[in-house]
Amino acid sequence: MHKIDIELVEMTLDVMKYVIGRVSATEHKIGKPRKSEELKAAVGETITEKGVGGEYAFNLWKEHLATANVPVDHPRNLAFVPASPTKAAIMFDLITSASSIHGAYWMEGAGGIFCENEAMKWMVSLTGLPEGAFGVFTSGGTAANLSAIVTAREHWRENPEYQREKGLIITSIGAHSSVKAMAKVADVDIVMVDSEEHLTGDALKEAIATLTAHQRKCLFAVVATGGTTNAGIIDDLESVSKVCEDENLWFHVDAAYGGGALVADSVRHLFNGIEKADSITIDPHKWMFSPYDCGAVIYRNMELAKNAHSQQGSYLEIFKDEGAHGFNPTDYQIQLTRRVRGLPLWFSLATHGTDRYKEAVERGLELAQIAGRLIEAHPNLELVREPSLSCVLYRRIGWQPEDYTHWTYENHEKGFALVTPTKWKNGDTYETCSRFCFINPDTTERDIEMILESMV
Ligand SMILES: *Cc1c(COP(=O)(O)O)cnc(C)c1O
Repeated sequence: MHKIDIELVEMTLDVMKYVIGRVSATEHKIGKPRKSEELKAAVGETITEKGVGGEYAFNLWKEHLATANVPVDHPRNLAFVPASPTKAAIMFDLITSASSIHGAYWMEGAGGIFCENEAMKWMVSLTGLPEGAFGVFTSGGTAANLSAIVTAREHWRENPEYQREKGLIITSIGAHSSVKAMAKVADVDIVMVDSEEHLTGDALKEAIATLTAHQRKCLFAVVATGGTTNAGIIDDLESVSKVCEDENLWFHVDAAYGGGALVADSVRHLFNGIEKADSITIDPHKWMFSPYDCGAVIYRNMELAKNAHSQQGSYLEIFKDEGAHGFNPTDYQIQLTRRVRGLPLWFSLATHGTDRYKEAVERGLELAQIAGRLIEAHPNLELVREPSLSCVLYRRIGWQPEDYTHWTYENHEKGFALVTPTKWKNGDTYETCSRFCFINPDTTERDIEMILESMV
């Protein structure tokens, strides 16, 4: 029998009380960052030889540190790509931590990996990829994009002619910054089609036509975006896929943000062609209501991912032998030891059902349309472009870039809202404008009105 540790029980109750308070509060503070020195002055030394004690440290967290974060689930946090994890997912995130599951190999993580795979089957079904396609959960979209492109490059290099070549990929300037970052890590060159509007097969063909003979030889993949982070624009996946097929190029779709919208009937057709992809990135921690962090990479052909990522090591052999009967997530992405980060998504899907997911995503899309109408009706505001997915770019007539910045800081300072400016490329010039991205289904029309009213 384990001795009952009273301190541990008390700490557990305190933590649970805090968690319940955090997830059930309807209007918590939006929070704002403070300087590291200020935080240090407020909390003092916390890492000491004897420890300061859990209760003391927890109080420091509650009083000084928790409020220096800007929770992404606030209904008026419409900056970057916010998030809104379900309570079910958050609760199971706690269970994921408490269960100490090593999620690399089936041998150790069968129960958790089984659940992840059930959630993954649903995600794959949304893409329309054929039988045999599957995926794994990653730490996020960056890791998913990197895993996909390394798979593509390794496959390309199976041809001895390319073994000593540095590969090249094509994407557009609408692609997420992580595509450039991952190209750097994978040491591949990148050519960007210079338009933020949706990438078409014709534009891709033009870009290929401008390559030198050597560049063309080294071109092995195209990264299209299924919902640009800045403006929610979905590339013309159908025509891009045709060019990829004709040119024998790996077709990757980065739908880290937009992938959640695959579940929404009202916009699903915009993704037509995604079923031709060789690999797809979707971030459940964006529009599938999972807590941080949870991304996913899906492959048409899992064997190619395994060839690229399966780690060999004598001390790993035991896992391979025993685990051969099951699915080993480590074999399909860059990470070995991994949290079963798809587990909270599984529990949330099982709890709510996929219809609720559909409704919640449709609500985000609807909020963007509502915001669009409110902006059109406002005498001082104009849409920069029609809302796309749940992104809305709009201008306050007469404002200079610094006006947007001041307004953002003022609203944030008051703890009222976080809405950040962005830039939109119009021809050769970049216009600074304001941007909404809706994820949280609890954001109300009134929230949007109040934010717009504050743009005086
Ligand atoms: C957010 C995003 C990423 C990066 O994902 P992380 O989870 O932040 O690593 C990649 N691509 C797109 C389109 C994104 O919106």
